[in-house]
Amino acid sequence: MTPTQALQKYFGYSEFRHEQKAIIEHVLSGGDVMALMPTGGGKSLCYQLPAVLLNGLTIVISPLIALMKDQVDSLNVAGIPAAFLNSSQSPDEQSRIITKLNSNHIKLLYLAPERLFGSGNKLVDFLRSLPVPVAQIAIDEAHCISHWGHDFRPEYLMLAGLKDHFPNIPVIALTATADKLTQKDILEKLNLKHPAVFISSFNRANITYRVNPKRNSFDQLLDFLGDKKDESGIIYCLSRKSVEALAIDLKAQGYSAEAYHAGLDNATKARNQEAFLRDDVKIIVATIAFGMGINKSNVRYVVHMDMPKNIEGYYQETGRAGRDGLASSALLFYSPGDAIKLKSFVAIDGDPEQTQVMLSKLNDMAKYCQLPTCRRKYLLNYFDEQAPDHCGSCDVCLSEITTFDGTEIAQKALSAVYRLKERFGTTYVIDFLRGSKNEKIRQEHKEIKTYGVGKDISKADWQRYIRELVALGYLKFTETEYPVLTLTSKSEAVLKGLQKVDLVATQTMEEGPTETLPF
Ligand code: ADP
Ligand code: ZN
Repeated sequence: MTPTQALQKYFGYSEFRHEQKAIIEHVLSGGDVMALMPTGGGKSLCYQLPAVLLNGLTIVISPLIALMKDQVDSLNVAGIPAAFLNSSQSPDEQSRIITKLNSNHIKLLYLAPERLFGSGNKLVDFLRSLPVPVAQIAIDEAHCISHWGHDFRPEYLMLAGLKDHFPNIPVIALTATADKLTQKDILEKLNLKHPAVFISSFNRANITYRVNPKRNSFDQLLDFLGDKKDESGIIYCLSRKSVEALAIDLKAQGYSAEAYHAGLDNATKARNQEAFLRDDVKIIVATIAFGMGINKSNVRYVVHMDMPKNIEGYYQETGRAGRDGLASSALLFYSPGDAIKLKSFVAIDGDPEQTQVMLSKLNDMAKYCQLPTCRRKYLLNYFDEQAPDHCGSCDVCLSEITTFDGTEIAQKALSAVYRLKERFGTTYVIDFLRGSKNEKIRQEHKEIKTYGVGKDISKADWQRYIRELVALGYLKFTETEYPVLTLTSKSEAVLKGLQKVDLVATQTMEEGPTETLPF
């Protein structure tokens, strides 16, 4: 049977999506793979289909016991024999599965990493001794192995031993969320052999991205929910306390809402999640504990009441909207105070290197919230994907931005940065441009040609322009003791008058945040 035939016979689909075909062919030829595909992109098929075609057992490593059952049930319905082994099963059930494995009656076996490698590798040894050998190992949510990822799970580190036990078995690592650093870490930790890396487009064209300055967020939320009473949505809050409070407040307003966070007992969590999946409850108010592996297609909106800690998490959370391809919204309420508050959350005691990485990811997130340019472009570029300057479906693109020839403004800003020897932050550069009477500036820099050439432009406008010039790549922040503005490879052309720069006319930015980056 060819992959395309199997696709039709077992899964009922006529065409492959994204890079599915290439991934599957690579696995079938015995190679290791790392596949990045957006949530809902169809990752499972990339190992389930080879599992059907390969002679032998496919082991699937998955982080959440709760998710295994769903996957296994739907495989069995499709006529593909699958099972899971976990602590929720009785010894009888477990031995039935062991018997089936011995007689080659199972094609896919789902396991948590600690199950595979626990009890002195007993299960590993058993699986290696099967009459029909293991033919493929799939690692779902592979970013969980990386400290740099946004959902590190220590038990995933046990998978570092995988290649020692199964040296010649193709391994396929799958994730919907890994930036460059996390990707590298996954490959290294799993010790993959000459892996082929497949990165599908992460663009979720049916999701509109919006960021609103946070003022009175409950009223703002009610405004947003106004015409959405019958639609399904997820609302994320940072703390368990605010999750509970918001669920109560929404119910008081007549909304169908339930809470979900890791502090609730298992029965409540399961009940609320089930009710949401069945559409009995429209809104789930949750911490980020909610959502991994949730396969609900008609989520119409995802709201973040607080800023997430990094783009990876944000993109995965917003990606839970619109899996059915219909128009959906992602809305985030941003206050610079949130970013500052999160600084202490992301710091990791005794690990300055990791703290630094986390802070820089937090900074990228804060930057996203203050973008004067297309949000989709920023998100896609974050994951190293090219994108056009305007997507037409984020708040920035939708605010009918009018631009003007800002070349002269750009030249002033760039030449100020140059004359100040790329040693100062935004505030100082602006004070210098505006000819501030500040003692230090006057004493040290007032003789410089550019001093005071930007008097006619307000501080707030200068802040926007500089942010925009950074977003457009004509200036950048370089970390010293604090972030200083420096030139880029694109600066020279502007300074020499070879490059025209269009800037956003400021009157359309009234709704936008005016604060500078918090750190
Ligand atoms: P992911 O794990 O990447 O979030 P899933 O593997 O759960 O996504 O797939 C999402 C949905 O897309 C599932 O309902 C799946 O059956 C469906 N799907 C996967 N591949 C295809 C395909 N080639 N054609 C149509 N639907 C597909
Ligand atoms: Zn856009």
